[in-house]
Amino acid sequence: MPNSRSTPLDTTAVRRRNLSAVLDLVHRRRGVTRADLTRALGLNRSTIGDLVGVLVAHGWVDERDDQTRSGVGRPSPLVVTRDRWLVAAINPELDVIDVALVSLGGEIVARRRTFVERPSAATAVEVAARVVRELSAEHPQATVLAAGVAVPGLVRRGDGCVRLAPRLGWRDEPLAEALREALGMPAAAANDAHLGSRAELTFGAGQGAASVLYLNGGPSGIGGGIVVDGRPVEGSAGYAGEIGHLSVDPRGIACACGAHGCLEALVPRAALTAAVGLAHPDDDELDAALQQAVTAEGDATGPVSSIVREQLGWLSIALRSVVNLLNPERIVLGGHLAALWRASSADDRAASLAEALPVTATDVRIEVAALGAQRLLIGAAELAWDGLIADPTEVVPLEAAGASAS
Ligand SMILES: [Zn+2]
Repeated sequence: MPNSRSTPLDTTAVRRRNLSAVLDLVHRRRGVTRADLTRALGLNRSTIGDLVGVLVAHGWVDERDDQTRSGVGRPSPLVVTRDRWLVAAINPELDVIDVALVSLGGEIVARRRTFVERPSAATAVEVAARVVRELSAEHPQATVLAAGVAVPGLVRRGDGCVRLAPRLGWRDEPLAEALREALGMPAAAANDAHLGSRAELTFGAGQGAASVLYLNGGPSGIGGGIVVDGRPVEGSAGYAGEIGHLSVDPRGIACACGAHGCLEALVPRAALTAAVGLAHPDDDELDAALQQAVTAEGDATGPVSSIVREQLGWLSIALRSVVNLLNPERIVLGGHLAALWRASSADDRAASLAEALPVTATDVRIEVAALGAQRLLIGAAELAWDGLIADPTEVVPLEAAGASAS
């Protein structure tokens, strides 16, 4: 017969789960009223008040009056994130190691890009650990608790081992473990496109959509994140979504993977950066430069416009296949694919799904990533937040938080 009274163990587990649920909602919505917490979590007001109090005492959140309410009655206090606890987000690429400190709510507090040509995994760990320490020292009011890495390659679920990052030349690199040792804190790693997809779904252009196809374009190629019915599709070992290696031209040029005519071989970021004459632009800089160049040409046959047109043509072939396969509600383009899309003519964009099956393609919305050049870092931070949000008061006991009480 089920026991109607909770045992102490149950109570602790329920409380931990509730604390985690409150923190998760404050994080994802970047602030939420107590009234909304009560409604969303189905808990009573005094329980929510108690849980929020615990999170305030541990330095995770603050409370302030909700200024947005103008109706009658007492305004519900707004529970907001604070940046007492941070995570480190790392994105090693072909020419740069991008490092940021990220607060709850996915806000970038500090960011530093270090230019290194084709870093080895050991160099990437060394540079990342040094930059994390430098940025931490510049933010003495905060403490970095964990790290997440977005890797342009195939990363094994579970231990964060990079099985293969073809363009970086990494094979079977225990990246998460090395970083854990170098930083002395929990560290996790995952595929960059999967993390970009997660960031856009939580905070960006994928919000509210149940079936989303995210395409990430970067210096190392093109990856994908697939979400079907609200769940990420990872494949049997976590390697699903390699849209960059869809064949769009079987007689095409060789790809780093060994096959021919892959999407990423025909739509390289380097061709766009060379066309606008920039050496190490981040995605926002590339986006602005490409639009400016196309506008300045004012002619579809101009050199930059021709490259844009050709690349959009190859991208459209890939999109046709994936739309027919997955029937997504939304397609989100990130990195140089976003820049490519925005630099393309309205006619070319409108024709991009013209050859997909009409019934599948009719309601698909194509959008550019809302988080721009920050999407992979915010995604990497999500990976680091997972363990902290799951058990916030265990990670930060009261004595550790005490110093920050104000
Ligand atoms: Zn390939």
